[in-house]
Amino acid sequence: LSERLGGVFDRLTKQGALSDADIDTALREVRVALLEADVSLPVARDFVKRVAAKAAGQQVTKSVTPGQQVVKIVHDELIKILAGDGEPEPLKIDNPPATILMVGLQGSGKTTTTAKLAKRFKDRMGKRVLLASLDTNRPAAMEQLAILAGQVGVDSLPIVKGETAVQIAKRAKIQASMGGYDIVFLDTAGRLHIDQMLMDEIQAVRDIAEPRETLLVVDGLTGQDAVNVATEFDGKVGVTGVVLTRMDGDGRGGAALSMRAVTGKPIRFVGMGEKMDALETFEAERVAGRILGMGDIVALVERAQETFEAEVAERMAKRFAKGLFNMNDLKGQLEQMMKMGGMQGLMGMMPGMGKMAKQAEAAGFDDMMLRRQVALINSMTKRERANPDLLAASRKKRIAAGAGLEVQELNRLLKQHKQMADMMKKMGKGGGMKAAIKQML
Ligand code: GDP
Ligand code: MG
Repeated sequence: LSERLGGVFDRLTKQGALSDADIDTALREVRVALLEADVSLPVARDFVKRVAAKAAGQQVTKSVTPGQQVVKIVHDELIKILAGDGEPEPLKIDNPPATILMVGLQGSGKTTTTAKLAKRFKDRMGKRVLLASLDTNRPAAMEQLAILAGQVGVDSLPIVKGETAVQIAKRAKIQASMGGYDIVFLDTAGRLHIDQMLMDEIQAVRDIAEPRETLLVVDGLTGQDAVNVATEFDGKVGVTGVVLTRMDGDGRGGAALSMRAVTGKPIRFVGMGEKMDALETFEAERVAGRILGMGDIVALVERAQETFEAEVAERMAKRFAKGLFNMNDLKGQLEQMMKMGGMQGLMGMMPGMGKMAKQAEAAGFDDMMLRRQVALINSMTKRERANPDLLAASRKKRIAAGAGLEVQELNRLLKQHKQMADMMKKMGKGGGMKAAIKQML
């Protein structure tokens, strides 16, 4: 796949803004990569659409191809979706005993994950944990949980033959309260496929147990089925978080994107093996890199962006420090300002400049003025732009007339240029300039 992508990206070497054709070509390959990573088709399709809208018209960084740029945009967007809005709140385990309901298909890793989580809460937070198996269909499953509980050193609810899942849930709740436990895990039974009986049972258990968290355990290798599983469980019992298991295997973990896109709920943990400590907190960046499988391209674009920004900032700061801020520089600045949404937009981005932006606006320094000033600079000769001090009165008149404006306006521009040049010189010496420029890029 990497080779095929390499080929496509080599062909896309045009610079400037990303064109629709660039985006289409690159996103076709991205879509294939997502499907190969087992992202569900509808999720992949939606995601690609979303990225296409985002990428339209974005600039291509120097020494990067448009295809590579698109991959970087895809990567960033993937992280954004996987991570959601910042850090999720910690699992709700205050007000003991807190019930955590574990749901998912049979074989997804519920029982293993339950024991792993119990160990984690016990070891890291000193919590007293009780485990209860509600898997009434398979006595072996109940014993499996009891054995794992013993292994990680937490208690399990004594097994009573002939009880229903709801009866076990009730008993677990009473036991948790009386025994002074902090957390009680309810490990539910799973079916190989979603069926009504399973869902009815889990709903009944939920209503009795009133879980603080309901964690959906999903095999990370789940492919096209992931959307159904997520929709069903979330719709019927209300999932609060997701655990992806078998992320230690060869799979690329596309189920992560499917889960997140369908439920919108945070992915909390990933299972990284059969051992009891093989459970890690979910890291969006790592999983995004794995799903996309284009880490080297992403790293390349990031490096190019950093280099480019450092170069530009360095070059400008050097010029300004030497007092080299001529009319060409000013023109560049004015044009940049227009591109970035005018004075307001620009100054809003610079720390502490918000007030200045308001003053500037009050003084009539608006986008029309920016345009008039650029017109004035355009009617100067190259030499005049390089050294505006040379301008004689007659030339000033000609320049103003050339731009269709009054001489006063040109004088104002010259004065403003002088002030800015002085300011730039001061800032350049202080070293704050580079930081300010880099922020604007
Ligand atoms: P349940 O039916 O949902 O309770 O699934 P189990 O917890 O019984 O797990 C089924 C199998 O998957 C067991 O053999 C586990 O050891 C294995 N398993 C669970 N989680 C992981 C994981 O993160 N990585 C690997 N490699 N195997 C896992
Ligand atoms: Mg089980």
